[in-house]
Amino acid sequence: PSANPTPVKVDYASFLSDEAKGRVRSQLKELRPYFEIPGMISFGGGYPHPSTWPINGMTLSVPFAGKSVFVPGFENRDSSTLLPLAKYTPPAKTSVVGPDLSNDLQYSAGMGIPFMVKWLTEHVKKMHDPPYPDGQWSVLTTAGNTDGQDGIYRTLFNKGDSVLLEEFAYPAALTTAQSQGIVPAAVPMDGDGVVPADLDKMLEEWDEVARGGRRPKALLLVPTCSNPTGVTYPALRKREVYAVCRKWNILIIEDDPYCYLQIRPDGADSPLVPSFLSMDIDGRVVRMDSFSKFIAPGSRCGWITGPKPLVQAIAHKTESSTNNPSGISIATIGAVIQAWGGHEGLENRYLPHISEVYSQRGLRFVALLEKYIPGLTAEWPQPSGGMFLWLRLRIETHPSFLSGRSTPTEIQDRVFKTFIEERILTAPSSYFKTPGGPEWSREEEAKRIFVRLSFSLPTPEEMEEGIKRMARGLKKEWGLEQ
Ligand code: PMP
Ligand code: PLP
Repeated sequence: PSANPTPVKVDYASFLSDEAKGRVRSQLKELRPYFEIPGMISFGGGYPHPSTWPINGMTLSVPFAGKSVFVPGFENRDSSTLLPLAKYTPPAKTSVVGPDLSNDLQYSAGMGIPFMVKWLTEHVKKMHDPPYPDGQWSVLTTAGNTDGQDGIYRTLFNKGDSVLLEEFAYPAALTTAQSQGIVPAAVPMDGDGVVPADLDKMLEEWDEVARGGRRPKALLLVPTCSNPTGVTYPALRKREVYAVCRKWNILIIEDDPYCYLQIRPDGADSPLVPSFLSMDIDGRVVRMDSFSKFIAPGSRCGWITGPKPLVQAIAHKTESSTNNPSGISIATIGAVIQAWGGHEGLENRYLPHISEVYSQRGLRFVALLEKYIPGLTAEWPQPSGGMFLWLRLRIETHPSFLSGRSTPTEIQDRVFKTFIEERILTAPSSYFKTPGGPEWSREEEAKRIFVRLSFSLPTPEEMEEGIKRMARGLKKEWGLEQ
């Protein structure tokens, strides 16, 4: 056939699947343009500080180039800009460690590269010791918790099923559910996490027609230094939530990427808050861990731990998508673990260090809030670690609320805009709000308006300047003297 030189116009939208057309994206992407504004200080995004990557550089031996190439890491260890002072160690003399590239870069079947699955299984046993027989739970390597969550949703839920989420949820938990036609339902929270009595009441009164979704099969939550609320569920709260889930036969999906970023006052001697997995006598917890926050987000590596039949079903999904995480990543992490000296080096030296980095950042941030922010306008808890502080706007004292001129949400939107004018970027709680929760009265709504502040990236100077700007914005909004 003779080629027609005029291109035929292709209507790409007509090729999209219903799934593609129905994809819901996080509102956080709306913050992106604001990053570009010159002079903006960001408390908006939750990114780990690159000084915490435990790799200063990598040397790769490349046979056909006939040389070794050195890939430099983060070397700007200027102590005036980092919190706490991170010790820079120049690339040490090379010692050969164990990973075997002939295996690690090969295809792997089942739960992942065997040495990593074995190492992670030992790690889980030491950190959580799931209280049901060892042969009945398993570990599956994932490409991080985003991938883990996709696998779990696709394995457990049908379209029209409901999932219980925290009143303020990690946006991808919400948008992934919505994209797959899973109906989210918000469980009210207080300062310790979801409220067990409210969870019980929701399940007691569940009405499939009114809810637009079948009875929920699972509750998904972020139990430690939560994104966005910064909440760490105390052990007692976890036990109460677990009891309600048992009563109604609900699975618990524990998304815990900030587990090792929790504040540990006595370093390695402070026990971690017990996880849901560690109290799971039934085998109803599916737990997600990630290397993103204690190695690096770009490692795209993590793992799922849970009852074998469920983990196996998730692994079958992996076979037709990621086909296990990257072998290059696994080999690199394996080398880092060996350089630390295995489990003890990780648990006794490295994990306490990571917790200390975020603890010092969080405590410095709160000290600055206390110094500058007028107490009439906002309140905040002590940080439990991680990256986020959940500042509550005291809408109930705002002049336009008291006079009835504005709704709490309108005031929230104005505060966000005023912060932008002051060149300070924050994330409003409306971005994280799960639908399907209770209808709050105007007075109750006024008590549930927050701002997510991330303290993981700014320098000490940016923290102080940013908080001064927030204070100016809040005084302006509340009509207080500058
Ligand atoms: N991108 C990815 C893939 C992430 O995992 C995260 C951390 N959750 C972010 C961006 C930053 O997210 P956020 O703005 O919610 O902190
Ligand atoms: N879950 C929560 C609660 C998060 O905050 C994040 C990102 O920080 C993720 C999952 C994504 O983690 P990953 O990088 O392992 O995909």
